Amino acid sequence: MTQTMFTEPEERVALREAVKKLASKYGREYVEKQAREGGKMTEMWLEMGRNGFLGVNIAEEHGGGGGGMADLAAVLEESAAAGAPLLMMVVSPAICGSIISRCGTEEQKQRWLPGIADGSHLMAFGITEADAGSNSHQITTTATRDGDQWVIKGQKTFISGVDEAQSVLIVSRTEDARTGKLKPALFVVPTDAPGFTKQPIPMSWQAPEKQFTLFLDDVRVPADALVGDEDGGLWQLFAGLNPERIMGGAFSCGIARYALEKAVEYAKERSVWKDQPIGAHQGIAHPLAKVKIELEQARLLWQKAAALYDAGDDFTAGEYANMAKYAGGEVACNATDVAVHTHGGNGLTQEYGLGNMLVAARLGRIAPVSREMILNFVAMHSLGLPKSY
Ligand SMILES: Cc1cc2nc3c(=O)[nH]c(=O)nc-3n(C[C@H](O)[C@H](O)[C@H](O)COP(=O)(O)OP(=O)(O)OC[C@H]3O[C@@H](n4cnc5c(N)ncnc54)[C@H](O)[C@@H]3O)c2cc1C
Repeated sequence: MTQTMFTEPEERVALREAVKKLASKYGREYVEKQAREGGKMTEMWLEMGRNGFLGVNIAEEHGGGGGGMADLAAVLEESAAAGAPLLMMVVSPAICGSIISRCGTEEQKQRWLPGIADGSHLMAFGITEADAGSNSHQITTTATRDGDQWVIKGQKTFISGVDEAQSVLIVSRTEDARTGKLKPALFVVPTDAPGFTKQPIPMSWQAPEKQFTLFLDDVRVPADALVGDEDGGLWQLFAGLNPERIMGGAFSCGIARYALEKAVEYAKERSVWKDQPIGAHQGIAHPLAKVKIELEQARLLWQKAAALYDAGDDFTAGEYANMAKYAGGEVACNATDVAVHTHGGNGLTQEYGLGNMLVAARLGRIAPVSREMILNFVAMHSLGLPKSY
């Protein structure tokens, strides 16, 4: 019998409660202060790691909690809903942790996964290149075999958290696969490797996590820095990109929850006409109600995508992961916009901490894959329309 579940298992509900408690200790004020003063989220990150929250999706024998992507996404949603989204969770445990878990050798799993799980080894992820942009098939970072080493040459852009990371999982192509469809080869490159340099990108988004352009100038790594098979094909990459999209959806839903909660609180308290709060006016109440509906839709989508991924149905999970990322990005943008508006002038003050969230929410429409590329994908794969890109 096929069962359709609309409630989460007890363990995940308890996990959410525990994460909420920890993340609320830090909250929005902590993030805004760290961002303003050039600080990081390290204290919270390591506490989350010590409590087993960062590695909840990683196997127990590799230092994790033995859960799945639905658990990890719930952790991220709760931390974001508490006002403290941990962007690097999308990257280190979700993308890198999943790829190493599924494609790495036992020795690679033992080397990297325990540190990723407890937060002591932060692994960034680099696929985007300036000239390729949304078209990852055009990336030109190349790895060439030289005896028992690989030599990597190329550039990456918009790579998050490299200043905090011990290594970056770099997506390259091999010398004999220089042109045509991407046959990705994935390498763990230490951030202190000779020939590896980073340049910060000045961003309008004020956040503790920074973005970088990377230069890989004949960076040499040992043969076992290659994760997976150089001829393994695209599935190895999507073992990490589908989790990235699910996490993107959960990240955005958490931001939307935070913004909606703040807006509703304010709408109940603020009163400028007689004794009625502003929330009594439909001009304020309806946009909030609309966001609530969109939020429930978006949450169902990432939960479905995660359930499919955890069940091993990569193909269908890919379709729903894309839709979940799209729906999350939309509701986060709508929720933060409505929240700022509900607060009137206060919406743009530092005290209420919502202005900067508008930009964070906007990220959900652009990265890791843009809204238009998801619409292209759904039009082609879900609806069978001709390929447009
Ligand atoms: C804050 C931030 C953090 C990031 N972190 C990382 C990271 O850690 N690692 C990493 O590898 N990358 C990262 N990225 C990069 C991100 O994944 C890219 O910005 C994203 O994939 C879009 O690529 P692009 O910026 O080159 O846009 P472009 O590809 O130049 O697209 C520009 C616009 O054109 C539209 N467009 C392009 N092609 C089509 C088409 N065929 N049909 C319709 N519209 C189209 C796009 O939707 C977009 O609106 C990050 C980006 C940001 C902003």
